[in-house]
Amino acid sequence: MTVTDLTPDTPAAVFAGLLGADRVVPGGAEASAYLRDFSWYSPVLENALADTTVDAVLRPATVEELRACVATAARLGVPVTLRGAGTGNYGQSLPLQSGVVIDVRGIAGVLDVQPGRISVLPGTVVKDAEDAALAGGQELAVMPSTYRISTASGFISGGSGGIGAAANGDLWDDNILAVELLTVEEEPRTVRLEGDNVRPVLHTYGTIGVLTRIEMRLVPAHEYTPLIVAFRDFPALTAFAFDLVAGDLHVRLCSVHEATGAAMLTPIAGLYSPGEDVALLWVDSGDVAALRERVTAAGGRTIDWSAKPHISQFPFSHTILWARKAEPTSSWLQCEYASDRGEFLAQVAALRDRYPGVFLQHVEFATSAGRTRPLGITPLVGLPDHEESLEELIAFCRELGLIVMNPHSYVVEEGGFVGDTAQVVELKTTCDPHGLLNPGKLGDSFFTARGLTPPSARAATARR
Ligand SMILES: Cc1cc2nc3c(=O)[nH]c(=O)nc-3n(C[C@H](O)[C@H](O)[C@H](O)COP(=O)(O)OP(=O)(O)OC[C@H]3O[C@@H](n4cnc5c(N)ncnc54)[C@H](O)[C@@H]3O)c2cc1C
Repeated sequence: MTVTDLTPDTPAAVFAGLLGADRVVPGGAEASAYLRDFSWYSPVLENALADTTVDAVLRPATVEELRACVATAARLGVPVTLRGAGTGNYGQSLPLQSGVVIDVRGIAGVLDVQPGRISVLPGTVVKDAEDAALAGGQELAVMPSTYRISTASGFISGGSGGIGAAANGDLWDDNILAVELLTVEEEPRTVRLEGDNVRPVLHTYGTIGVLTRIEMRLVPAHEYTPLIVAFRDFPALTAFAFDLVAGDLHVRLCSVHEATGAAMLTPIAGLYSPGEDVALLWVDSGDVAALRERVTAAGGRTIDWSAKPHISQFPFSHTILWARKAEPTSSWLQCEYASDRGEFLAQVAALRDRYPGVFLQHVEFATSAGRTRPLGITPLVGLPDHEESLEELIAFCRELGLIVMNPHSYVVEEGGFVGDTAQVVELKTTCDPHGLLNPGKLGDSFFTARGLTPPSARAATARR
């Protein structure tokens, strides 16, 4: 079916009148590719989102066309879900109430590069922003491991951190300097947010406004060398990694994997021996010699990165991709360990004792305001179910003092990143007065309990 087969008053036909039929995909088989993302990491989400539908997918090529789409959707009362590359892990870009999906990848380009700042259009591939920064001797402070395909607006609305976080922190560490967004009204307004006012749009799944410009922090570029550090003692490796990130060498990435999970990183697993726990490092090339010495002194060995795949193919949520390939029935969890070194190491030990071979520890790091934050993106292998067993495991993590971000929910507040609820409510109310943006994702209780911090987000809010 094409839009020309539709009666003129269907939403798809109305939008075809705006954009041209070739840039509107009517709901049905052709649109199905836009109803998939990486939420299949979770068996719970895979089930919950299996029947998602869409009336039409719109592919505007300019901000003005985007504005016209948004105005029309507001006039028709049609739900709007924005979409970048569709690499989100929690169904962020899958509409719960049908309506239109707007693919922003056509609205791409670097607008401006200044010392410490790059401004881009929403659909800009993050790698294009990184390349533009590198051309001037700078690099992105933080970017997702999917930076080769994911978009700037998708990253800040659906992601949280990634490569660079070990040195510069995550999205909430002043790495997103400003945004501009369209309100979802019959006459959309452009709203500019700067500094802390940006926070409500971070990781709130495109529910607040339609981003048209993103300004990201740049830092001086380094030349990096990828390396593998291997130990036969996971506690020693985690202690080494913590000290490395907290120390004086420049580390853009430090991705720690206990041996069972390390063996699942198939394309590089041949570089180390079975039973070795590894850290994948991207370090300043000038620091490599010092790093090698420290590894040897701590009882480990350094392995040169002679594998073809780029190091970005393995850390953060990429790890789960490899675990799912190796163990198709595996699942996952996201959590944050204590930033106190001793407490972190005690948590690592307690989890190994309680869930050997199940909770495969994979630790990334972020440095926030001088604090070293170990983050768990954990393959779960052989978990009997996602009800009692998962709840028991999450409860155990919480007893140990870990913060758990539940990746088995498409509701923002369950992920624990809402932040200041009052700020989010205020901006949502003024920017999306008809409640058309990605409806259902903020969670019902969010609205019924206006002004109150959702219980699931309290820990995360207190932390930030
Ligand atoms: C293998 C793998 C590795 C990953 N690694 C990381 C990682 O290192 N760090 C990390 O943070 N995440 C990671 N992710 C998650 C995801 O890839 C990133 O968050 C990514 O940046 C999302 O970008 P996208 O373009 O695919 O966005 P999409 O998934 O298409 O969208 C994400 C959200 O952004 C919203 N959105 C998109 N454009 C707009 C707009 N213009 N205005 C308002 N809202 C908008 C969408 O509605 C949706 O809610 C990973 C995922 C996978 C599958």
